[in-house]
Amino acid sequence: MSSGNRSADPLISVIVPVFNEEENLEILAARLASVMAAARLRYELILVDDGSTDRSLDIMKALHAGNPHIRYVSFSRNFGHEAASSCGMAAATGDVAVLMDADLQDPPELIPEMLERWREGFDVVGARRRSRAGESLFKRATSMLFYRLANSLSEVEIPLDVGDFRLIDRVVVDAFNRFTERNRFVRGLFSWVGFKRTEVEYDRPERYAGDTKYSTRKLMLLTLDALFSFTLVPIRLVGLFGLLVTLLSLVLVVVIAWQKFIGVLQIDGYALLSTGLFFLGGTILLFLGVIGEYVGKIFQEAQGRPLFLVKEASIESRDTTASLAATATHGEFVR
Ligand code: UDP
Ligand code: MG
Repeated sequence: MSSGNRSADPLISVIVPVFNEEENLEILAARLASVMAAARLRYELILVDDGSTDRSLDIMKALHAGNPHIRYVSFSRNFGHEAASSCGMAAATGDVAVLMDADLQDPPELIPEMLERWREGFDVVGARRRSRAGESLFKRATSMLFYRLANSLSEVEIPLDVGDFRLIDRVVVDAFNRFTERNRFVRGLFSWVGFKRTEVEYDRPERYAGDTKYSTRKLMLLTLDALFSFTLVPIRLVGLFGLLVTLLSLVLVVVIAWQKFIGVLQIDGYALLSTGLFFLGGTILLFLGVIGEYVGKIFQEAQGRPLFLVKEASIESRDTTASLAATATHGEFVR
C-alpha cells in the first residue's frame, strides 16, 4: 500500500496533544466538527491529555460522552508534546492522520485543502506558516535561528517554518509507530521517513486562549534533542578540532626542538604555557560535554523506559482488551 491507493471516503484521525488547554477544547471540537461536516468527511478526534492540571480532562470526558468519535487518552503526568503526539499516532485508526495543536493556531479549516493534496498522491502534507500573528520577536528570531542551524547541521532537511501541523497517510503513521527512540523530534522524523511530501501555506493565527505551553527551557531542550538526535556533526567537529590541535602541536615540537638545537631557546614561555593550558583545558571540558550529550542519550535509550504512561483512556470496541489504559511501550499500545 502506498501513494495512489486512496480510499474515496477516508477516515481522518485528528490527533491533538493537550496540556492545560481548558479554554480551547470545546471550540476546537466544535470548529473541527463543522469543518468536517461541511466537507462531508469522516473523522475521529484523539485528544491526548499530557498531564494537564486544569479541567482539560473533564472537558475531554464530556466531549467524549457527547460524541463517540471523540476519544481521549490521559497521561499519568506531563511527558511532553512529542510523547503526546506519538501516543496519538499509536491510537489513531484512520486512513489518514492530522497532527495539530489544541490552541487553534493550526486552523481545522485547512484540513480539506490538505486532504486534497493527499488525494493527489502526497503522503505527508505539511503546513507552512506564511505569517505568524502574536509571536514575539524573540520567538521568531530563535525559531529562525533554530531552523537554519538544524538544517545546516543535520542530514535530513527540516523545512523552514513548517511546524507540527501536518496530514499524513496511514503508511507513514505505521512507519512512525515503529520508531522506538525516546528522544524524539517529531518534525524531523517526518522528514527522515521520506515518502512523497508537499506543503500548503497558511497564515498562523494567535493562540485562541491561554499562554504558550512551551517555556524557553522546553524549547531549548527540544532544540538540543533535534540537534543531537539528527546529526553527528558536533562530534565530528570535536574530532576535527582535536586533529588540528595535534597537528599544531607537532609543528610546535619541531620549532622548539630546532630552537633548542641551535641554542636560541629561552625559558620565557610562561604566557604561552599558561594561556595554552587554560585554552586546552577549557576545550577539553567543552568537548567532554558534547560527547556527554550523546552518552546521555545512549543512557536514556538503554534504559528503555516507556515514552509515556497512560492513566486512563476512553476504550472502544476496537480495543480488544482494556490494556489501552495500562501501559504503552515504544509508543505502541498493547491492544
Ligand atoms: N503541549 C503538550 N505538552 C507540553 C507542551 C505543549 O501537549 O508539554 C501541547 C499544547 O497543549 C498545544 C501544543 O502542544 O496543543 C503546542 O503547544 P503551544 O501552543 O504552547 O506551543 P507554541 O504554539 O507556543 O509553540
Ligand atoms: Mg500554540
